[in-house]
Amino acid sequence: MPEHLPTIPAVTLPFPRTVKYGPDDHAAVAALLDQGRLSDTGRGPTIAACEGAFAAATGTRHALSFNSGTAALQAALHAVGVTPDAGVAMSPLTWISAILVALHAGSYPVFADVEPGSVNLDPAAIPAGCGTVLVTHAWGTPARMDALLAATDQPIVEDCSHAHGARYADRPLGSWGAAGCFSLMERKPVSAGEGGILTTNDRCVYERAMTVGHHPHRLAAELTQPDLLALSGTGLGYKTRMPTLAAAIAHTQLRALPARAAAAESNLADLTTAHAATGTPIGAPVLAPGSVRGWYGTPLIITEPVTDPDALYDAFTAARLPVRRLYDDWLTSPLLADPALLRSAFPHVRHTPWTAPDPHAFPGYLQARRQTVLVKIPDVPAADYMHQVAAALTACLHHHL
Ligand SMILES: *Cc1c(COP(=O)(O)O)cnc(C)c1O
Repeated sequence: MPEHLPTIPAVTLPFPRTVKYGPDDHAAVAALLDQGRLSDTGRGPTIAACEGAFAAATGTRHALSFNSGTAALQAALHAVGVTPDAGVAMSPLTWISAILVALHAGSYPVFADVEPGSVNLDPAAIPAGCGTVLVTHAWGTPARMDALLAATDQPIVEDCSHAHGARYADRPLGSWGAAGCFSLMERKPVSAGEGGILTTNDRCVYERAMTVGHHPHRLAAELTQPDLLALSGTGLGYKTRMPTLAAAIAHTQLRALPARAAAAESNLADLTTAHAATGTPIGAPVLAPGSVRGWYGTPLIITEPVTDPDALYDAFTAARLPVRRLYDDWLTSPLLADPALLRSAFPHVRHTPWTAPDPHAFPGYLQARRQTVLVKIPDVPAADYMHQVAAALTACLHHHL
């Protein structure tokens, strides 16, 4: 390090965490092993309890379990009726499988820009003539659902995979759109090991989603829509239901969420207070009244221009800050940049108006990529650790901006 730069105080304390799976998880798993009931073709008690808990948590009439968030999203897009004629509008700032599900559901992604100063889809950027809109509440920051709903007459599917327990304007995420989808893979805010949940108030969406990946036993027991009854003996042939072990763990982990979220909230408040006191040009997105964020890496927005994001990231990691990189820029991945490759993988793309996206058409997205730093906020009390994080972040930003 050049001598004229003061030393950046590195974080020396270990990242604060507790044991993730406790006695409740062990007991639930042991009970299923004892019963010899690790798979349920219908809506058995473990599946029903898990689904009921998610419906209650999101205030929705129905919750439907899947073996991954990706499977839930694919079923949701099928259920709201996406087509090859009209694409699925979405921000590129999301996990890749949330983009590719549009193709698996028989449609294609239509990228739309991120709102300036935000990490979420810009309501004003929803393209005219697109079909369904897929909205990721990126890194737990609630998207502006009222504005998004006002900006389109098409169904909205919410990707809540970073936003378990989060709310926008006093209403839970996952209850605003035609469907909400939650990943329950282990690193998400509620873990089933692997799993996914679809939430909806619409009985028709619930049943159509069920036909995609659930067993005929369950379809025969639950389908009521006249246009779906003929599918009750076959379904549509995917097999994406949740194993009972995953459902049991998801249920106990969901109960632990409020305490974890409260600790994270308090840790973020410590960081915000320290940065306000030092005038550090960084902050978490300000939420609308009645909104609550989710906890999956917290996006902090740097409010002065970042010219060299890679150098800044290197400084953060050298200071042992708990930062993560944003997702790769999927727009420049071979699959999305090379139409021949995409057509060879998804032949129906020939019958759609798909064209490869140009990243420069999305200035809000490119700005978010430069200006956002993802900080993992501990979900246990961690005042001393947050004190070190605040000091190291301030020093890094002062040296590098
Ligand atoms: C994790 C994730 C998914 C996919 O969920 P899986 O359970 O891994 O299939 C979808 N969207 C977002 C935003 C995610 O973070």
